[in-house]
Amino acid sequence: KEKEEKVTEEIPPEAPLLTVTEVKVNVSMPEAARKAAATGADGVGLLRTEHMMLTPGVHPKKFIKDGKEEELVKILVENIMKVADAFYPKPVWYRTLDAPTDEFKTLKGGEDEPYEHNPMLGWRGIRRELDEPEILKAEFKAIKRLQEKGYNNIGIMIPLVQHPDELRKAKEIAEEVGLKPHKDVEFGIMVETPAAALIIEDFIDVGIDFVSFGTNDLTQYTLAIDRNNELVADLYTEGHPAVMKLIERVIRKCREAGVKTSICGQAGSIPWIVERLVELGIDSVSANTDAVGEVRRTVARVEQKIMLKAARKLLG
Ligand code: PEP
Ligand code: MG
Repeated sequence: KEKEEKVTEEIPPEAPLLTVTEVKVNVSMPEAARKAAATGADGVGLLRTEHMMLTPGVHPKKFIKDGKEEELVKILVENIMKVADAFYPKPVWYRTLDAPTDEFKTLKGGEDEPYEHNPMLGWRGIRRELDEPEILKAEFKAIKRLQEKGYNNIGIMIPLVQHPDELRKAKEIAEEVGLKPHKDVEFGIMVETPAAALIIEDFIDVGIDFVSFGTNDLTQYTLAIDRNNELVADLYTEGHPAVMKLIERVIRKCREAGVKTSICGQAGSIPWIVERLVELGIDSVSANTDAVGEVRRTVARVEQKIMLKAARKLLG
């Protein structure tokens, strides 16, 4: 038995699978960051803030209203740091707040949240944050503070943009708290609306370091299918030609302009979509922790296929 064990010990560990296309991970709970990092992911392609911001059970606007902005900033610093630490020096893209009004109602201070007939088409993402810039400022202040502590691996991602002015204004707010987009932090947008995909050039003109496809939303807005409505769930297809066409357009334009592209929606875990995106030259694919290994294997297979095809062509 002793011998057997010794032999087993001598077997070298499996070499990690390397891919040119980066494979990243989505993180929603900072407590799960170490587990997410253990997947060997090349960074965090989507750090959702909703969990950390809603967990204290208090509406973020109540912190501001009660003059407790500092408390909110501290909660954010503490939580984002856990993730930035677990992945350092790999990049972590922090997405600013994107919670539909119905998710805020039960929180302390959330009683007066407006009723919306369709929250998914309503007051969420950057459009809400520009109306309540104090919350966005608190988020940027937290990132600035982390920057000052040496965490230079945090990027900022703006959700649900539909017009370049939203990006412009978000950048101005970052500047107001002393955080310089592109210089201090990478600054990018989520492509979640057909509008953003159709005029991506205008966003590029305003200045972005990267885009990330939020295909969960991009699918619902392109197909006019509520992602939470079971009655139409069978029509909700991320691989719909119209969704793919928008994605292809954005990747093409971004490559021309030297802007990085990534995907953090669920479509990034569908093998044939991954294959298509890698062929188009996407820079990274970000998946949930439990899907990172499988996505890495898919990406590796596709890259091999692409290289073999190229080699055969070269050899005539
Ligand atoms: C998306 O829309 O694809 C996305 C990743 O964001 P969320 O699911 O949080 O809306
Ligand atoms: Mg989304």
